Formats: sequence, structure tokens, C-alpha cells
Amino acid sequence: MARVLLVEDDAAIRLSMIKALESHGYAVVSTPSGLAALESVVSDPPDVVLLDLGLPDVDGLLVLGMLRGVSDVPVIVLTARDDDATIVAALDAGADDYVVKPFGVDHVAARIRAVLRRGGSTGPGEGTVRVGGLEIDPRSRRVTLDRVEVVLTRKEFDLLLALASRPGEVVTKRTLLSEVWQQAYGGGDRTVDVHLSWLRRKLGESAAAPRYLRTVRGVGVRLADPDEV
Ligand code: CA
Repeated sequence: MARVLLVEDDAAIRLSMIKALESHGYAVVSTPSGLAALESVVSDPPDVVLLDLGLPDVDGLLVLGMLRGVSDVPVIVLTARDDDATIVAALDAGADDYVVKPFGVDHVAARIRAVLRRGGSTGPGEGTVRVGGLEIDPRSRRVTLDRVEVVLTRKEFDLLLALASRPGEVVTKRTLLSEVWQQAYGGGDRTVDVHLSWLRRKLGESAAAPRYLRTVRGVGVRLADPDEV
């Protein structure tokens, strides 16, 4: 039985999530405190952490940073607002995924299954993929662009790898959602769009001036060598 550490100071949300997660078959340990969560991760390591970012004792992002100093446990952050800057900061600080409140527990349970499934997997491809000046190594999960390392979040890397495993081919957002986020339900295009825009920024390009990431309107996106487009 997978063990979930739920860090949430809102008692009503905490209690309803405990009940719902237990009904999904998870063993749940919960705390309203960021510091208690850190202690718990060290003394009694969970399989996944659900971390509210708005905590009364320590800011959730700080908790995340400290947690990453001691553990590689998958972390899904719970944010009150659909705030790109906060989400970027959380992903950069080592969050594996995020959900925006208010959320359905089925949705959270799907994210938990996804991060647990990914644990320990090295991704779909073996061996380094090269597209133009971009090198993607699925084993070490390192990416270099013109020999300079590009630091990506886990999701950004998975997205790039999903495209790199089909160089030149247009991949639909639905396929990306199901491969990278293990989601089959609709309404998630924005998740792909947001991560694509972050990935573009890190690769030094934009939707208006694309190089490697080519959007084909209404179809999807493909990874292309800019010198061959
Ligand atoms: Ca809160």
C-alpha cells in the first residue's frame, strides 16, 4: 500500500482528502505543519508527498527546498491559485507535479498514480538523442544545447523526451498528455502549453520565433533541427 504524506493546514481539506485518499487505497499520514512534514519525511519516509504551498509555519516553497535536501520522494504541490510564477518556482525547486485548488480527489489520485509509476523508470528511450545542437540523454536525464547544459524540471524533460523519441514527427497534445502526464481526460491542453512555453524559454526560443519546438496549429508539436526546417 503506497504511503502518502499530506501537508495541509486547512483542516476541512485535510480531513476530506484523508478520507478520499484512504478510499483510493492509500495509507495517509498528515500534518498541518511544514516543519513536522520535514521530520516525518526523514523519520518515516512516505512514497509520495502532497504539499500545500500556503502553510502557516514555513512557506511551502521553502519546505520543498529543504525536503529536496534530504529526500528524492516524489512531491506534488497543491496551490491555491493558478499562478504560473509560483508553479514555475515549485517545479524549479524540485516538485514533480502540481494541482490547482479547488481540485477533485480523483484528479489528485491520478497524479499520485502517475508519479509513483514514473519512480525509477528511465523513460521510453535508451541512448542519447541528438537533434541539431540539442542532446538528450534519457539515462542521466541531462540535456545540452550547443554543449551547454540546460537544466529542466522533470516534466519538461519528459515532454522533451516524448518529442525526441519521434524526431520530426508531429505529436498531438493528447499523446503528450497521456505519455507525460498519464492523463487521458480532456481539458489538459493548457498543461502541455504551459510546459511547452517553459521548455521554449529554457531552449532560448519562443512560440513567435521557434527553433526546435515547432507547433503545428490544431495538430500538435514536433521537435525539429532548426537547420533543416
Ligand atoms: Ca494552506
